[in-house]
Amino acid sequence: MSMNEDWKFERRRNRLVDELREKGIVNEKVLAAIGRVPRHEFVDQAFHARAYNDEALPIGLKQTISQPFTVAIQSQALAPLRDERILEIGTGSGYQAAVLCEMGARVFSIERMRALYDRTKPLLKSLGYRVTTMFGDGMEGWGSMAPFDGIIVTAGAQEVPEVLLQQLRLPEGMKSGGRMIIPVGPREEQVMTLVVRTDVNSFESVELETFRFVPLLGNTVG
Ligand code: SAM
Repeated sequence: MSMNEDWKFERRRNRLVDELREKGIVNEKVLAAIGRVPRHEFVDQAFHARAYNDEALPIGLKQTISQPFTVAIQSQALAPLRDERILEIGTGSGYQAAVLCEMGARVFSIERMRALYDRTKPLLKSLGYRVTTMFGDGMEGWGSMAPFDGIIVTAGAQEVPEVLLQQLRLPEGMKSGGRMIIPVGPREEQVMTLVVRTDVNSFESVELETFRFVPLLGNTVG
């Protein structure tokens, strides 16, 4: 890419950050991360001109790279601290994982569609993002890597999967338990929900805004 193109994308990225700020995103770490991740690298060249619009874009296989505002809301609610272990369900394009990496998190990500997994794993690596990826059903979580400080689900869930709740870290002393940010609801509309583990079998949840995500897939798709 020419220097000129780099500069053009940087200018658009800065405008996107301003737009997200105007739309109410206040976490400076989130805004700085979005200001650094080259979103155009995560979409097909045909969508480069739209990569820094605040819109979801197709990534093939009826899937999407989430709208930047949604990525920002989820990242802000999760608020990962440096070196925290975060599990993402739905790697998709890899963009959300890259934003979490930029925030200093140790990211684990599961994708259910083979073609997306095969494309995104090398892409993240080539861009220098160290994400531990797995091809599989995220509804099962990642038992061997658990517990997690945070879990982010980037597809719509009918309900909060119990297996994922059990993979959140327990509270310890002054440190509160692991948290999960997940859009919950029927196909048409989901409520962004933040769940925090407060004890072995107790969780507290807070409902945020309403969104519309592509649905979480069951174990029938390959
Ligand atoms: N985080 C993605 C990004 O930044 O591009 C957004 C991805 S898209 C909105 C949702 C993704 O979840 C799709 O790639 C889809 O294949 C994946 N997905 C759906 N059900 C899944 C499941 N059960 N386990 C893992 N991934 C799943």
